[in-house]
Amino acid sequence: MSNQFSQLPLTPALLEALDNQQFKTMTEIQQKALPDILSEKDVLGQAKTGSGKTLTFALGLLQKTDTSSFGVQSLVLCPTRELAEQVAEEIRKLGKRMPNLKVLTLYGGTAIGPQIQSLQHSAHVIVGTPGRIMDLIDKGHLNLWHVKTLVLDEADRMLDMGFEEEMTTVIREVPQERQTLLFSATFPESIKRISQDIQRSPVEVTVTTTH
Ligand code: ADP
Ligand code: MG
Repeated sequence: MSNQFSQLPLTPALLEALDNQQFKTMTEIQQKALPDILSEKDVLGQAKTGSGKTLTFALGLLQKTDTSSFGVQSLVLCPTRELAEQVAEEIRKLGKRMPNLKVLTLYGGTAIGPQIQSLQHSAHVIVGTPGRIMDLIDKGHLNLWHVKTLVLDEADRMLDMGFEEEMTTVIREVPQERQTLLFSATFPESIKRISQDIQRSPVEVTVTTTH
């Protein structure tokens, strides 16, 4: 099995961005999960911090993003504002060669007004925390009817922080016909239950190394 990104069926724009950032060799989670992710399967990934999960789901969602089409195509739910900013930044860097790609962050603890403003121009990818996203949907400023890829990043932490209800509410707004990628550092019963509720025959990928 090859461990080079260049062997994956990625768009030239993504291969070029990987090359520019000197990403050549895949980490173990990337090697194990990317072929299934790129075949549009649901993936349940368990891997500890530092294993390269962001790049794994970022490549999956960007590969399917059509920047000429309007509407939110991907939603990434994260536990914290800091994580949402980091993830969005990594997606933007990878999407550098995709003209007009718009990645927006939405999280609580900051004024909602500017977020409402930024949503008037829509976005292809939204990265944010469940509570604020739920608020924006409730207030009629955001719809997720065109989402093709749903990602839960650090799902165990979102549960620990008490976001289950908000998460579930937001997920109900996303079409059933979609790809769902769920990542977690640990794998308690609560995560298995959520996976069963929101994923279709997920491929389970577990790694214990970070390289
Ligand atoms: P996780 O979300 O699993 O904790 P991250 O996605 O934040 O891990 O990645 C950790 C670090 O590893 C980041 O600095 C990222 O840029 C880097 N990284 C990810 N994939 C690769 C790779 N294939 N080669 C080199 N560095 C990588
Ligand atoms: Mg991470």
